Amino acid sequence: LRESAKTLRIGMIAGDGIGRNVLPAAQRVLEAVPGIPKPTFVALDAGFEHFQKTGTALPKETVDTLKSECTAAMFGAVSSPSHKVAGYSSPIVALRKEMDLYANVRPVKSVEGHDPRMVDMTIVRENTECLYVKQETIEDTPQGRVARATRQISERASTRIGRMAFEIALAAAQVKQQRGAAASAYGWTGGPTVTIVHKSNVLSVTDGLFRESVRKVAAEYPNVEVNEQIVDSLVYRLFREPEKLSTLVCPNLYGDIVSDGAAALVGSLGLVPSVNVGDSFIMGEPVHGSAPDIADRVPSIANPIASIRSAALMLEFMGYVEPAAKIYDAVDSAIRAGHVTPDLGGKLSTDEVTDVVLKAL
Ligand code: ATP
Ligand code: MG
Repeated sequence: LRESAKTLRIGMIAGDGIGRNVLPAAQRVLEAVPGIPKPTFVALDAGFEHFQKTGTALPKETVDTLKSECTAAMFGAVSSPSHKVAGYSSPIVALRKEMDLYANVRPVKSVEGHDPRMVDMTIVRENTECLYVKQETIEDTPQGRVARATRQISERASTRIGRMAFEIALAAAQVKQQRGAAASAYGWTGGPTVTIVHKSNVLSVTDGLFRESVRKVAAEYPNVEVNEQIVDSLVYRLFREPEKLSTLVCPNLYGDIVSDGAAALVGSLGLVPSVNVGDSFIMGEPVHGSAPDIADRVPSIANPIASIRSAALMLEFMGYVEPAAKIYDAVDSAIRAGHVTPDLGGKLSTDEVTDVVLKAL
């Protein structure tokens, strides 16, 4: 989708919990992969723990450095306490807004020769609005307290996420075409397809605008087949026949939920990468969170693959398609050989899996 950047200076925001375990794996792979300019890295702060130490979750310096020095970035993970903590709001949500990273692209693929079911879909999640505008109110009424949240859907954001989805569907179809016969085993019918995920039968104004905006974009892509599906029945299909789904475009919240569900289809959250994309910046980020239940283990048992694949995805979106493919292949071979962390039934540590991937690379 993008011209290759000629220099690679990458902001590394490890964040909280296992973010600090898995981001170094991505860095080692970026240092080793052939075919890209030698990258340099700059470590940057953000996260809940940083907030606890300093009172700031996303320091201004982090944003300034990203904007002035970096070609791209990698983000590890951030803990979000489920209760409200005064003064804290998620730095990743803020960062996506600050850098205008309006699309979150999440490919969910199973490994050929490993998974019995061939899943190969990409979830394109709107990243800036929906319920994530976080305008919540609560009031006392005679019947008890009533809480409300504002859900914003704009024509502009829906149009640009729609366009991103159509571009990705075209690119994905091209890759599958190159793979030839193997593609048909995926239940893929031959052409690029975009499925619009919404709930406009109930939310006819907000989801109605999302659907209508993406449909308008569809007119610019006569070669892409357009489907739509109500989010609940989409979830049903996700479990019943995931092989038949290819590129999904979703408003922010549905995209969040559908992609965690899709991750379960391929074995572990620890496998699924994502990239946050704007018109002038790219940031790789594993789909998983800070995994407090396994954080701080020594040695770390966090699966580094989501983070490594996120680095590859970041490269892919910068135009380094071949180097990215090399990383995907190296990861697949490690999985096929059973060199995996405990979440996938293996015994290796984070670093040991990374060693195996580097060797394959
Ligand atoms: P957060 O609030 O930061 O999102 P969470 O409690 O939702 O934290 P997740 O990180 O989303 O936790 O993880 C959900 C589950 O998946 C946890 O049991 C976690 O251990 C597991 N998991 C997530 N990522 C990985 C990984 N990279 N390797 C192994 N297990 C993982
Ligand atoms: Mg989570």
